[in-house]
Amino acid sequence: MTEVMREKLVIIGSGPAGWTAAIYAARANLEPLVFEGAGSRTMIPGGQLMFTTDVENYPGFPEGITGQEMMMAFRKQAERFGTRIITEDIVKVDLSSYPRVLTSSGGKTVEADTVIIATGANAKWLDVPGEEELARTGGGVSACAVCDGALPFFREKRLAVVGGGDSAMEEALYLTNFASEVLLIHRRDAFRASQIMAERALEHPKITVVWNTVVESVSSREQDGLKEITGLRVKNTVTGEEETLEVGGLFVAIGHKPNTDFLEGQIDLKDTGYIRLPDGGRMATNVQGVFAAGDCVDDYYRQAVTAAGTGCMAALEAERWLAHGGIEAEAGAAVS
Ligand code: NAP
Repeated sequence: MTEVMREKLVIIGSGPAGWTAAIYAARANLEPLVFEGAGSRTMIPGGQLMFTTDVENYPGFPEGITGQEMMMAFRKQAERFGTRIITEDIVKVDLSSYPRVLTSSGGKTVEADTVIIATGANAKWLDVPGEEELARTGGGVSACAVCDGALPFFREKRLAVVGGGDSAMEEALYLTNFASEVLLIHRRDAFRASQIMAERALEHPKITVVWNTVVESVSSREQDGLKEITGLRVKNTVTGEEETLEVGGLFVAIGHKPNTDFLEGQIDLKDTGYIRLPDGGRMATNVQGVFAAGDCVDDYYRQAVTAAGTGCMAALEAERWLAHGGIEAEAGAAVS
């Protein structure tokens, strides 16, 4: 028979939200257990920051820090206060029973008084040759202009943004601060973005829209042992014509997907898959004793520092919920 682990607090996810929640919870003697994820091609323990090169906008690091170093430091800090870590995914949850029951990819069953979900979101990628390697190695492909656009690598270059939604408009406009020119590549002949954002992009002198066009591959050259982007092979969806566009950077802005599939039917999710918080100012979900933080709830800010902030909030809420009697107090309140 498999052993059932019994825990006060389980944290699912290991980005800035998960580790910050762990640091606060561990220092409050909740002895948190973190499931940091098993790792796959697009998702690894540490989350999206593991795919980022330099983080220059997280306060406290005047010289910047790499995303990987930052996440290793978060993890170490959580461990210092007694956080226990399991390198597996949580693949199934039963939030209808109490304690909450979680099942891991390694077959572990965990019963938890409280749970913090901090599973993050994944940027959607184009899935074309060249893209993944250059994104992973800092070779000029990114899914976050705010994170990477100001890096010296992209300065005074012709950059490309792919997408036709608000994110693509925002990224293109942001990049005009650094780029010599921004090509905004969209697969159709009309934007999905809000009118005001679309107008701003269309009217900007540095932005050129490339309509009805899809990217087929990303080309690169090797420089000092590292590959860096040189251009995009693109195809016109109307004429079928192909050409190569020379660019010094590619920003993919075709949306995000929160990592919440395993919560389907167990917790209140928005149509987009993000976790709905009944009281927008708090991190409590519609399930008592279950909290959520970071990009799995945030479809708006999506920054490391905001994720860390909500991780802290979720841990404080979990601590207070337990201190005020947890599920028994909730049951009493429901009866009285
Ligand atoms: P989105 O609205 O879903 O737009 C995604 C865009 O990417 C669409 O134009 C889509 O093309 C294109 N696309 C999707 N898959 C593609 C593929 N495989 N190849 C090429 N193009 C592809 O996503 P979003 O822009 O990230 O916005 C998400 C939500 O956040 C929206 O509600 C948005 O309004 C909001 N948001 C608001 C702001 C703001 O107000 N400042 C900023 C950012 C985001 P099609 O149009 O052809 O489907």
